[in-house]
Amino acid sequence: MPELIQAVRGMNDILPPETYLWLYAEHLIRRVLISHGYQEIRFPIVERTELFKRSIGEVTDIVEKEMYSFLDRNQENLTLRPEGTACCVRAALEHGMLHNQVQRLWYGGPFFRYERPQKGRTRQFHQFSAEVFGIETPDIDAELIMMSAAILERLGIRSLCTLQLNSLGTPASRAEYRKQLVHYFQINKAHLDEESVHRLHKNPMRILDSKNPEMKSVIANAPKLIEHLDAESLEHFEKLQTYLKQAGLAFEVNPCLVRGLDYYTRTVSEWVSDKLGAQATVCAGGRYDGLVQQLGGKPTPAVGFSIGVERAILLMQQTDKTHKKDPGLHAYLITDSEQSFGAALKTANYLRAKVPGLKLMLHCGGGSLKNQFKKADKSGAQYAIIIGEHELKTRSISLKNLREDIPQQTLYQDELAEYLKLKISKK
Ligand code: ATP
Ligand code: MG
Repeated sequence: MPELIQAVRGMNDILPPETYLWLYAEHLIRRVLISHGYQEIRFPIVERTELFKRSIGEVTDIVEKEMYSFLDRNQENLTLRPEGTACCVRAALEHGMLHNQVQRLWYGGPFFRYERPQKGRTRQFHQFSAEVFGIETPDIDAELIMMSAAILERLGIRSLCTLQLNSLGTPASRAEYRKQLVHYFQINKAHLDEESVHRLHKNPMRILDSKNPEMKSVIANAPKLIEHLDAESLEHFEKLQTYLKQAGLAFEVNPCLVRGLDYYTRTVSEWVSDKLGAQATVCAGGRYDGLVQQLGGKPTPAVGFSIGVERAILLMQQTDKTHKKDPGLHAYLITDSEQSFGAALKTANYLRAKVPGLKLMLHCGGGSLKNQFKKADKSGAQYAIIIGEHELKTRSISLKNLREDIPQQTLYQDELAEYLKLKISKK
């Protein structure tokens, strides 16, 4: 026997019944995004490697060691998208969507990073994101954060998460702070791990983001960017906080919150949970006013967030909401002859079209009526629908409630549709 071929490490299959939870979560997320007037944008999974190098930053985990890059047959250097913001900006610029316009966009799908697979961390993972272009004021930062809260709420996991905020200021205010930070870490170099020493001159702010518990106190005592913010960034940040307070959304300011990608300016936010182990962030975002220009466009303010679906699902699995379970079939249609099967094919489609939301499975593979009844019972459906020789002759359909002791009924097709409609809407 030939050897079985297995999936690539860190790239997980998602199987039923868990796929139900995915479908459900994705449906709810899309509904929230659409309900805020955001429009979907779709772009390819593969982009030129240069796009990510130029946007994410050369000295970042992603670009240094996490990208799936390859040469295609034409020797072009391509990369499986490790994140979506750069792709979204690329697409929006390419199609002239950003000049003098406001865009509120969303997208969702798979992303790829060569990381160490563990709970809540996979090499193919899934995100839903929102990005807004053309609005500088912090009202839009507030809207986005409220929208992320609404998503978590709808998924039933909001109470498991807390919101952290910080402001990274402008590149200019950061430059001054950066000098002080490098100076501080140089004095305390003995307390830094190898990775942080490597970052010291190239990307010192990322040291603040280190999860190494041994560096906790050296990080806690480091100078705070928030104390070096320019006046406008400070005002921007304070307004955002006022809006959120007015809206009744609780948050904490975490002065050590920086983000893994270089392009952020001003607002950064994360929803974290202590129910996820080491991978605590379920949703993250921020402002990136410089990125559009960095990618060749006119200066355009921009802000967005992404929610990680794997981690959201992990949290949903820890709640006891019944929505997690596939409610199963409503009806299972069985037949007693080849002739009645042909009619059943047609009737099944008629019923599905007439009864919104009806989940009706048609029995295939033959077998005696008795056996088919057994299958109907095992399917978990509430009803068996029977189309046999007798029903064909009388142009009627029989309905048996498999879960309650009610006599079998015989109905005309349209009567059955009405009956099912009533029963399903009550559920
Ligand atoms: P982390 O701190 O977990 O490395 P990040 O800062 O690299 O996250 P972002 O690029 O901001 O993450 O992505 C946004 C969200 O996408 C994260 O908060 C997380 O929920 C999810 N995410 C990122 N990388 C992975 C991964 N490898 N596996 C699963 N989910 C991920
Ligand atoms: Mg990461």
